[in-house]
Amino acid sequence: AAPFRPPLQLSPPVPKLEPLTSRHVAVIGAGPAGLVAARELGREGHRVVVFERGDQVGGTWVYTPEVESDPLGLDPRRAVVHSSLYESLRTNLPREIMGFLDFPFVAREDDKERDSRRFPGHREVLEYLKEFAREFGVEEMVRFKTEVVHAGVVESNGGDVNKWEVRSKKRSGVKVDEIFDAVVVCNGHYSQPRIAQFPGIEKWPGKQIHSHNYRVPEPFRDQVVVLIGTSSSAGDISLDIAGIAKEVHVVFRSIADEKLGKHPVHDNMWLHPMIKSVHRDGSVVFMDDSVIFADVILHCTGYALYFLAGDRERVWIGVHRYKYHFPFLETNGIVTEDDDRVGPLYKHVFPPAFAPCLSFVGLPMKVIPFTVCELQSKWIAGTLSDRILLPSKENMMEDINNFYSTLEVSGTPKRHTHNLSNDPFEYGDWLAVQCGCPSYEEWRKQMFYAVARVKKAQPEKFRDVWDYQDLISQAHHDFAKYLP
Ligand code: FAD
Repeated sequence: AAPFRPPLQLSPPVPKLEPLTSRHVAVIGAGPAGLVAARELGREGHRVVVFERGDQVGGTWVYTPEVESDPLGLDPRRAVVHSSLYESLRTNLPREIMGFLDFPFVAREDDKERDSRRFPGHREVLEYLKEFAREFGVEEMVRFKTEVVHAGVVESNGGDVNKWEVRSKKRSGVKVDEIFDAVVVCNGHYSQPRIAQFPGIEKWPGKQIHSHNYRVPEPFRDQVVVLIGTSSSAGDISLDIAGIAKEVHVVFRSIADEKLGKHPVHDNMWLHPMIKSVHRDGSVVFMDDSVIFADVILHCTGYALYFLAGDRERVWIGVHRYKYHFPFLETNGIVTEDDDRVGPLYKHVFPPAFAPCLSFVGLPMKVIPFTVCELQSKWIAGTLSDRILLPSKENMMEDINNFYSTLEVSGTPKRHTHNLSNDPFEYGDWLAVQCGCPSYEEWRKQMFYAVARVKKAQPEKFRDVWDYQDLISQAHHDFAKYLP
């Protein structure tokens, strides 16, 4: 995984005295990233329009029972369903650390309709995000049912001032072109399925589906299911269907030999190494040459950039890789996506050529998403108003090149560029220093690692057995200053 290296050679930002610059900013997407970006931009005095393809705020957290016409999500003509949530989904983080830093995600014990569990279901997260949008007046900034179909730079003055043309399309088909000073990309990256490939798949007679199109276990009743993947979703979905399927065969990319075979708890579950090949007779052969006959292959294998213009027939080989999809963005080839690296980006946010007028929120992986989006958004808002100064374009490029070299020297693949699992807090702490704002409290960090430990020891029950009262008390003590 990629280590994050702050630039030692760069001096800390020098705050500018008022008056601050106010810019006209387009935010693309009203998921958690877009909501918090809009709030921070608004707080800083910018004039903000949020474009949202859907009809409500919340992004991924807007659950829908609807699935796509192609269960693998490969057909470029399919109508894309944004959310990948399944009905039973509960958060994989306790609410205390999942919520935004200054808008605590606390249980509403007084409201019986609400889910007060520490790891609540997805509807509770959506309620929280709606409250956030109402509380900070973000809803009024959002144009719903309006998709950005093009965002491109139209003017550059000595490389410093950019104007962006944003073309949006209403559901009615009406298109509007507008000019903005800056664009903040918050379009999410869990909607384009990536599937695993193996020899024989084109002749295998069973059904295939990607977890993006998994909602409920019922379609798997009495079926023999091969489920590929080890992410949180793969764990949840395997348990979901184990209660109803005839057999569930979970496939791991890498797994210790002693763990293979019958699951210690579930009678109808087996653990396997990767698939070697599949065959016309319905058989699935694993790397250890064991064989089963299956009805369904369920790919819980992450998300891919599947089709940019002219890119329709691309198929990716490999599993557990996320790709980013910015089909609307035109940067004259300056910002590119290559094997999951969106770049060149200074600290995963600013392409130096367009900084601070083009930015990306929410690319880092293996972090606490809402809080990272919040700190990135503060940084973006502050740089756009000239309150926070960025290094020169040359210094940003140098920093990026050093970062990429560090990854290369350490043998870290490109696709882990935005993976901050080595230290999920270092990046946020660095952002907080740039913004001159408080960073993660110590209890937040401890809680994150405590959850990881319990999850490892009891992957099936961690949400209900986790109980670190001292950390919870510290969290609620700190939350008091933000609550009415
Ligand atoms: P999204 O939530 O995806 O929002 C993007 C928004 O942009 C959408 O509303 C979309 O309609 C809009 N959009 C996209 N393109 C356009 C366009 N061209 N024009 C206009 N609008 C557009 N995170 C956690 O913290 N805890 C969890 O427990 C957790 N569980 C997860 C489980 C699953 C199955 C998945 C897929 C993700 C999970 N996540 C979890 C991560 C989750 O993605 C983040 O919490 C968060 O939703 C990311 O926010 P975002 O705003 O970047 O993207």
